[in-house]
Amino acid sequence: MKPISFEDLNGKVCVITGGAGVLGSSMVKALASVGMKIAIADINKEVADQVAGEIAAEYNAQIIGVAANVLDKESLENAKAEINEKLGPIDILINGAGGNSPLATTKVEQMEEKDIDHPEDTFYGLQLEGFDKVFALNFKGTLLPTMVFTQDMLKNRKGVVLNISSMNSYKPLTKIPAYSAAKASINNFTEWLAVHLAKVGIRVNAIAPGFFITNQNRFLVLDEKTGGFSPRGQKIVNNTPMGKFGEPDDLQGATLFLLSDISSFITGIVIPVDGGYSAFGGV
Ligand code: NAD
Repeated sequence: MKPISFEDLNGKVCVITGGAGVLGSSMVKALASVGMKIAIADINKEVADQVAGEIAAEYNAQIIGVAANVLDKESLENAKAEINEKLGPIDILINGAGGNSPLATTKVEQMEEKDIDHPEDTFYGLQLEGFDKVFALNFKGTLLPTMVFTQDMLKNRKGVVLNISSMNSYKPLTKIPAYSAAKASINNFTEWLAVHLAKVGIRVNAIAPGFFITNQNRFLVLDEKTGGFSPRGQKIVNNTPMGKFGEPDDLQGATLFLLSDISSFITGIVIPVDGGYSAFGGV
């Protein structure tokens, strides 16, 4: 028997939306390390090009930056045409674009008696615009790219979709109802689509990252003045049995595992990569 490896991924074409971000770019490094051809499809083309150039040079890999808005089908179709022309048919999709917004975040964790006369810091002060934005980016921003970027996989009767969920999908965190609901919808959609596509050769799975300090949550978990953890950041560490935040590279193993034929009988699952957070009851 040949040693088990990620060899089957060598030369495969992967599109990663939001691939210019903190977690996405670490995944791009993992893909490059096993010889994949990568399109970083991001709304921020400039950063996508920069990340593509840096990682391509480091790994001697074929990586392109492509402008794409995951909420706009036409932009995704244009991106697909460009990827097909430059890299060939798409084998794998990672739906990495997503995130939260301060507009969809309550200021207080729980409503208290004193908040009843000042509801602006609570659920009642949330701006619907922020709610819509976060829900769209995370849910529709996974749905639409999947419709567009799996077309070549359908033709080949083979492909993999990897969605990015979150700890919020299992039990919502306080303050961020839109993000929590949207990520719960990602788990549900992952299962639904896995069933729907199981007979045409496309596997659909997700990873649920635990806590990583990135642009979208920095304002919540770090204290701007001291640079140390905010009370919320400290609470996260206390509830993570490994006692720390994750490093983006911690997602690389689960990513390659779910993309590779090594997991060819696995579809419709969500793997937590969380230092034990989801296993811990808090006591
Ligand atoms: P990030 O903000 O660093 O990266 C997100 C990327 O998505 C950016 O490059 C951004 O330009 C791009 N993007 C935003 N809107 C887009 C759009 N409309 N179309 C195309 N691209 C768009 O975020 P991150 O922390 O690396 O998060 C990546 C994924 O991981 C997200 O789905 C996030 O919800 C999820 N996640 C993050 C954490 C964490 O601790 N950071 C935890 C769990 C899940």
